[in-house]
Amino acid sequence: MRKKRLIISLCAAAAALLVFAAVLFDALSNKKNVEKTGIAMGSVVTVKLYGKSGEDCADEITDSIENEENSRISRYKDTSEVFLLNKNGKAELSSHTADIIKRAVKISEDSFGAFDPTVGRLSSLWNFDENVMTVPADEDIKSALEGTGSEKVKINGNTVTLGKNQEIDLGALGKGLACDIAAEILEKNNVKSAVVSVGGSVLTYGKNPSSDFWTIGIRTPEPDDTSAALKLKIHGTAFISTSGNYEKCFIKDNVLYHHILSPETGYPADSSLKSVTVVSDSGLVSDALSTACFVLGKENSSEVLKKYNAEAVFIDNENNVYITDGIFANVEAAKNGYALYEYGK
Ligand code: ADP
Ligand code: MG
Repeated sequence: MRKKRLIISLCAAAAALLVFAAVLFDALSNKKNVEKTGIAMGSVVTVKLYGKSGEDCADEITDSIENEENSRISRYKDTSEVFLLNKNGKAELSSHTADIIKRAVKISEDSFGAFDPTVGRLSSLWNFDENVMTVPADEDIKSALEGTGSEKVKINGNTVTLGKNQEIDLGALGKGLACDIAAEILEKNNVKSAVVSVGGSVLTYGKNPSSDFWTIGIRTPEPDDTSAALKLKIHGTAFISTSGNYEKCFIKDNVLYHHILSPETGYPADSSLKSVTVVSDSGLVSDALSTACFVLGKENSSEVLKKYNAEAVFIDNENNVYITDGIFANVEAAKNGYALYEYGK
């Protein structure tokens, strides 16, 4: 089962966001550059460092991301703080992990519960991570929903107490958080230019040595097509995350079931969107907001985007693309069939 999960994750991680090969090729032809690929958080992790040689720095990034998963945020690994918190319902956490939970609860509040870090029981029930392609019984969904609601999480210093039958799931912010960790390490090591991608989250760091901007591909929002539908130009350092309904999904009786859940209904969120990409100055925020905006839908996302000063690209079910004004001029179609509009934030 674990192997199956890994394969599924790898396919899913065949990237919601693609960093364009051509741009990288130029920069990577310089021998001093370093490229490293690994697996963490059920996703492919790619670290590309330009200019100054940095084999050790690349290793430090991949090791730190793995450590974040194993000892802090995984709800599967019995070595992690979140695992123990879920098991015991209460735990004194490291200040680092307590801080992540505080930030997650705040984003949940700011997104009117659309992003909900307490969907753990619901996520386990649907079990998209292990590719369980069945629709749970309605009564089981109702029962798992009773455990949700981040307002039930009590935080006192670093001690976190969960509500009844409540379980934390940080899956919707983990990959963005991994990009934040990467950025800290790049800064500490005085790296000038780098790109780090962890599944559907990307960090562009510093200046692209061979261009004025980095070019990021936003994936075609279909299960079997990993090519880019859109190109997004990014100047300097930024965090970009995409959430889409094509990642972990199945179709039953003509209905698409996918891994982004509505904390209101307990079923996959149906907001007429295929994907949402969020650009922010924080990885954790970009990842959590991409999930939040997917659940909220295009019309209801404006407030939370404004609050976090984030930009977004929405692709709806008809392949209409709505882009917030701060990045509207930076997006172009990479193939036919996508109509681009400015989004009124
Ligand atoms: P991915 O993990 O594929 O990058 P997301 O960032 O959108 O995609 O996170 C989806 C994951 O987050 C799910 O697999 C599940 O573990 C969890 N999740 C699902 N729905 C929600 C939600 N409404 N709020 C917070 N976490 C969620
Ligand atoms: Mg997310």
